Amino acid sequence: MSNRTFTIIKPDSVRKGNFGKIVSRLEAEGFRILSLKKVNLSTKQAEAFYGVHRERPFFPDLVRYMTSGTVYVAALEKENAVLALRTLMGATDPSKADAGTIRKEFGESIEQNAIHGSDSDDNAKIEIGFFFAESELM
Ligand code: GDP
Repeated sequence: MSNRTFTIIKPDSVRKGNFGKIVSRLEAEGFRILSLKKVNLSTKQAEAFYGVHRERPFFPDLVRYMTSGTVYVAALEKENAVLALRTLMGATDPSKADAGTIRKEFGESIEQNAIHGSDSDDNAKIEIGFFFAESELM
């Protein structure tokens, strides 16, 4: 189990002023921020980041949404980080997410669901590498 994962505080969260609240939740749950930056994803970046979903019917909408506003991307550290973040985030669809999860509290739809979290150690490594050099992780 790796102790790193990757998150995106998605455009709906930033638009609604929930960035700080979500970071507070992450810190309160023991995640350390190794690196954090504010980004406007280009269409090319969003398409590449979500490449595994290219064939899904919602792919064009997902890319439009993820490029609709500023996001924050961050590399996080905690024991069993991937599973810990997936648990804290809750289900993809906020209406099905457990009480107390970030998506339950801040998400508004299956698309605009507040936060991304890597789904495996392998993907965490790839996703961190998408935005950060190893030397930027502190
Ligand atoms: P995650 O790992 O929980 O983020 O879920 P997925 O990897 O399955 O999907 C990636 C992202 O695509 C989700 O976080 C949503 O923002 C979006 N998404 C997933 N399912 C749907 C859907 O059925 N419709 C739309 N419009 N977006 C979706």
